[in-house]
Amino acid sequence: MTVRRRKSEPKSKSAADDGAREALRSLPSVGVLLGRPSVKQLVREHGHGAVAEAVRSAVADARRDLLEHRTATVSEQAIRRHLDRAACGSLSAVLNATGVVIHTNLGRAPLAQQAIDAIAQVGGGYSTLEYDLEAGQRGNRAMHAVDLLTALTGAEDALVVNNNAAAMLLALSVWAAGREVIVSRGELIEIGGGFRIPDVLRQSGARLVEVGTTNRTRLADYANALGPETALLLKVHRSNFDMVGFAAEASLAQLSGVARPRDLPLFYDAGSGNLLADLLHPTEAPVSTHLRAGADVVMFSGDKLLGGPQAGIVVGRKRFLSPMREHPLMRALRPDKLCLAALRATLLLLRDAPDEVPVVRMLRLPIADLQERADRLAQEIRSRGYDDARVVEVHGRVGGGAAPSRTLESCAVRLGGRHADELCQALRAGAPPIIARIVDGATLLDLRCVPPAMDAVLFRAVLSALASRDVNALPGK
Ligand SMILES: *Cc1c(COP(=O)(O)O)cnc(C)c1O
Repeated sequence: MTVRRRKSEPKSKSAADDGAREALRSLPSVGVLLGRPSVKQLVREHGHGAVAEAVRSAVADARRDLLEHRTATVSEQAIRRHLDRAACGSLSAVLNATGVVIHTNLGRAPLAQQAIDAIAQVGGGYSTLEYDLEAGQRGNRAMHAVDLLTALTGAEDALVVNNNAAAMLLALSVWAAGREVIVSRGELIEIGGGFRIPDVLRQSGARLVEVGTTNRTRLADYANALGPETALLLKVHRSNFDMVGFAAEASLAQLSGVARPRDLPLFYDAGSGNLLADLLHPTEAPVSTHLRAGADVVMFSGDKLLGGPQAGIVVGRKRFLSPMREHPLMRALRPDKLCLAALRATLLLLRDAPDEVPVVRMLRLPIADLQERADRLAQEIRSRGYDDARVVEVHGRVGGGAAPSRTLESCAVRLGGRHADELCQALRAGAPPIIARIVDGATLLDLRCVPPAMDAVLFRAVLSALASRDVNALPGK
């Protein structure tokens, strides 16, 4: 998103240039700013190097502002903001006020406290990552989540790799390299960031045999494509889009009817990988259903609906998983101890107390709770003189390629009366940064994905964004 420039056209270009040059000259220099008592204090706290860099950035911002808005100041607050930013680097925590639960750009699933504790325990010391306590000798890292994954999915066996793309690469490298994989044209998706499933699949050395058309693939299309080179049948969750209207696809159960008699494996990339029967029913069936329908191998992500760390999970029949575990690629794609610790803790919660997994909790959040928090926030904002804050009904989304057409009944605080682009930018520049949404020219803050304990922090950050010069320098709409 870019800042909208609201510069009126100058009568003559050179006169405008002169004006701008003069204004730029009137800005204090970095040296002058570093000599100010308040900035000297910052230098004592943070060191000369960091503060000089923050001052340079603040001056650069002011120069940009001047060219856009005709006025600019270099405030201590701006310098502090640059210092904070530099301290946390480019990867930092934000508040997700978009209402999209599994937001890939914002790090997908937030982890449960139990998963964070497990990471701290395992990561902060030595562990039994590859050590068998009973035998007192080398153990196997691949075993750590197997019991829980098989229990939760009903699968015979399970293995964990880095992410779902890695799971597919491994599965096809082992079972289809140099041979053919039959897949529907309607399922060859792009998953975001410009990555396309067919490109990942081809990296395995498998040849994709595309069947059907974009909107309709019948069982007969798969059957007609079978040949001596066929290694397996693959079905892929369409993930981030739905087909409506004149569309048809073959179900896993139907495909199993084609694959089984010929002793061909049937693999399914389930994308999000839901493990709970009642979560998003009936749009996202749980993984156990896919296995019962006849998939030999099901692959899915650990950080989407499962609500755990980034991981690729493969469940299914032992005879297909064992060779994957032994393949050299497994060594390149294996998960680290932090991932395994968080995954195990998340799986335990899914088994015993699913509502403690943030993704599950947020998806099930009662609308009345959201309404109450939004009412309170809107009222507090209004009490500070921003009269146009009000609560509106909105539709949140699951995200992460799950149930794309399904909306989550939600409500949000709507901040109208000012330029939404500028306000969103000010919210992003805050501490903590807040990521909001713009709908019909107004800024919306959906509280579904904001932990209730952060409501007060959000309120303060919103107030400071509303008060920022950029937002108020512009006429309201
Ligand atoms: C998200 C997704 C992937 C990729 O999973 P990662 O864990 O991000 O590698 C693959 N296939 C489908 C259908 C997806 O939805």
